[in-house]
Order: sequence, then C-alpha cells, then structure tokens
Amino acid sequence: MREQIGIVVQLQEIESNIDKIKSALEVIPGKMAILDKEIRDAEQDMEMKKSLVDELRKKYRLNESDYQANLSMLRKSQEKLAAVKTNKEYQSILKEIDDIKAKNSLVEDEMLKSLDVIEATEKGMVALKKEFLETKERIDREKEIIGEKIGQGEIDLAELNEKRGSIAKNVDKDLMLKFNTVKGLTKGTAIAPVLDSICLGCNMNIPPQMYNELQRFDSIKFCPHCQRIIYWGKA
Ligand SMILES: [Zn+2]
Repeated sequence: MREQIGIVVQLQEIESNIDKIKSALEVIPGKMAILDKEIRDAEQDMEMKKSLVDELRKKYRLNESDYQANLSMLRKSQEKLAAVKTNKEYQSILKEIDDIKAKNSLVEDEMLKSLDVIEATEKGMVALKKEFLETKERIDREKEIIGEKIGQGEIDLAELNEKRGSIAKNVDKDLMLKFNTVKGLTKGTAIAPVLDSICLGCNMNIPPQMYNELQRFDSIKFCPHCQRIIYWGKA
C-alpha cells in the first residue's frame, strides 16, 4: 500500500499540473478578446475624429461657396449703386449692401470656427495615432507572448498526459477508481498527507485511532471531513 500511495501522490502531482495548465489555457480566449476590443475601441475613436474633420471640412466648403456667392451679389449691388437715379433707390441698395456684408461676416465667423476645430482635432489625431500605434505594438507583443504560452502549454500538456498514462497503469484498479471519484468530488486534489494528525487537504484533525492506523499503510483511508484519500505524511 505504501508503494501504491507513492504512485498516487505522483499521479496527483501530475494531474494538478495538468489542471493548472488547462485553467491557464481556458482564460486565454477571454484575454485575447479584451486585447482585440482595446484595439477596436482605439480604431473607432480615430475613425470618429476623422469623420468629424471630414464633416467640418464639408461645412467649411459650403460656407466658402456661400461667401463667394455673397461677394458676387455684393459686386452687383455696388455696380447698381453707381447707376441709381433716386435717393430712395440709393438708400435701398445701401441697405442691401449692408445686409450682404453682415451675412458674410457671420459666414466668415463660422469658417474661422470650423478651422479652429479642424486644427485642434487634427492635432489630437496625431497624438491619438501615435498612442494607437504604441497600443497596437504592445498588444501585438502581448498576443505573441500569449501565443507562445499556448504553444508551450500544449507541449507540456501532451508530456504530462503521457506521463500520467504510464503512471496510472501502475495504480491498483480499485484505488484508481476511488482516486477518480474523490477527485471529481473535490474538483482538485484527491489525496492529501496527514501531518501531526492534521489532514493537509482540509486542515482538520483526524481521529487518533485513524492516525495510528495510517502509519501502518495497510488499507486506504479517507479523511472523515473532506473525503480525500489520506496517508501518513511522516514516512
Ligand atoms: Zn481532509
């Protein structure tokens, strides 16, 4: 029994390593998705800024053509002014000219405002682009490391599974069955040493009688608290 326990301890160690690698591999898709989202968000942010600039440029061009149209109206009014006959007509054309000038002054204000926002947004975009490239570089590097981890994890898993198979062959069928049952129940370790009457699986005291029996290694014992297979840790 002592030898069997030794084999099961080895088996448990290998299975714990397998579980550790598996759970590390399981969280990787989530990590990847977070990194991808970070990139997507940064891209969206840049696209939004770009379409804002496009919009403002369009508005600027519309204002500019309004401005030009007003200028040609102004020229026409000024030509008319030279040919007027009555004072009333003169006053009315003067008013027309003033109105056009006032309108164009507003258009000019709008154009300047657009230019200011375009300039500020473009400056922001340069910084954003730099930041984006840095983020992308960092994320690409992280992904590369993750990719290497996956590769190594898979290699380790294959090795451990092979080792597990060759060790499991030497475990007594009945003991193996119990090991698997307990492992399913605890969802972790199925076997734990007992040191100074304490089960290291659950840190609880086992009865003195059981502790004495454990030292004889003559049968499989289970912790009365956590149900793990237990063995005398001081051998
Ligand atoms: Zn226990």
